[in-house]
Amino acid sequence: MARNAASIPLQEKERESSLTAHHDRVRSCDAMTEKKPNLIGLDLDEMTQALTALGLEKYRAKQIWSAVYCFGARDFASMTTLSKDTRTLLAEHFTLDRPSVALGQKSEDGTQKWLLRMEDGHEVECVHIPEEDRGSLCVSSQIGCVMRCAFCHTGTQNLVRNLTASEIIGQVMVARDVLGEWPKPGKKNQDAPPKPGRKGPLDPRFLTNIVVMGMGEPLYNYDNVAKALRIAMHSDGIGIGRRRITLSTSGVVPMIRRCGDDLGVNLAISLHAVTDVLRDVLVPINRKYPIKDLLHACRDYPAAGNSRRITFEYVMLKGVNDSLADARQLVRLLRGIPAKINLIPFNPWPGSPYACSDWPTIEKFGDVVNAAGYASPIRMPRGRDIMAACGQLKSASRKLSAAERVKLEKP
Ligand code: SF4
Repeated sequence: MARNAASIPLQEKERESSLTAHHDRVRSCDAMTEKKPNLIGLDLDEMTQALTALGLEKYRAKQIWSAVYCFGARDFASMTTLSKDTRTLLAEHFTLDRPSVALGQKSEDGTQKWLLRMEDGHEVECVHIPEEDRGSLCVSSQIGCVMRCAFCHTGTQNLVRNLTASEIIGQVMVARDVLGEWPKPGKKNQDAPPKPGRKGPLDPRFLTNIVVMGMGEPLYNYDNVAKALRIAMHSDGIGIGRRRITLSTSGVVPMIRRCGDDLGVNLAISLHAVTDVLRDVLVPINRKYPIKDLLHACRDYPAAGNSRRITFEYVMLKGVNDSLADARQLVRLLRGIPAKINLIPFNPWPGSPYACSDWPTIEKFGDVVNAAGYASPIRMPRGRDIMAACGQLKSASRKLSAAERVKLEKP
């Protein structure tokens, strides 16, 4: 169902009060029961350590890893390659918790958006975009965002907290749960549904790519994002390779090189302006790391090359950054960088101060960039009717004030 501006304040108020009640319940439950550690979000070494500390043999850790990440086991009871005693022991000491789906919406174009509730009651959004030859999952890295990019709905939500590695990889696992994509043990992917747009089980994977482009700035939560992506890339598990993962940053320059060295994933930059004066407004981190420094980091990015270009995201804002002079300056700035420019028609959200450039303007802008030898696809908006398109994500989670926290923590 499409959200409309008039219905939003009421929905958000209702969600906020239901969230506060949920926080209340979570906290009182936590006080009564001591939480068992979650195996999801541990890397293979950590999982091995945790399980051998319980007296299990090392090879069991690999078996359990495989049950969790190859086959999506949701409880220990389903791990029938283990003895009953071992399954009971595991259930006594660990959980396999993922975020829960608080709300699922499907766009008329097939895009799906899930509002995911974390254990503490906070919520983030996560979007699956099916295409002819792939299915991309846009995952969030933080609840809210501190960056306050002027064109972005998430930017209007204060940062609540970083997501843990478990909550980040948990988004991938929930998506696979909902899409019914986990293979059955011993059957590889044969039982999974066929790929969107294709008939028959050629490559039945719905979720082939991950883009860390949802809520939050991933390089401000680097350790957890890196850990989650390593788990996703592990060849004995989910197995989505680094070439199928893209991390998008607003321009946290000092972390860009590290990301390339450590992870070697594709890089996307939220550029959106060709002068510092304008970028200071649209992407305020530019005041700290101006365009020159940002592009220097891009030239230095280890995983970039002609076969793996850096994607520059450029949202088209009417009368703001969409002139032909802007297009020519963009080409000059990117000279020497293996780049692709994604032109994103602005996706409006309630209260947004901008409008989308006219279609002919976007096309002319793209022609200038194309003529200079850069691919500049116009990214067709996906999931606009469910507010799932680029820059539209937001949840009702908010950071509690000190007084509210004290009130909730009272027995
Ligand atoms: S564009 Fe990204 S970094 Fe900027 S406010 Fe939105 S979520 Fe945060």
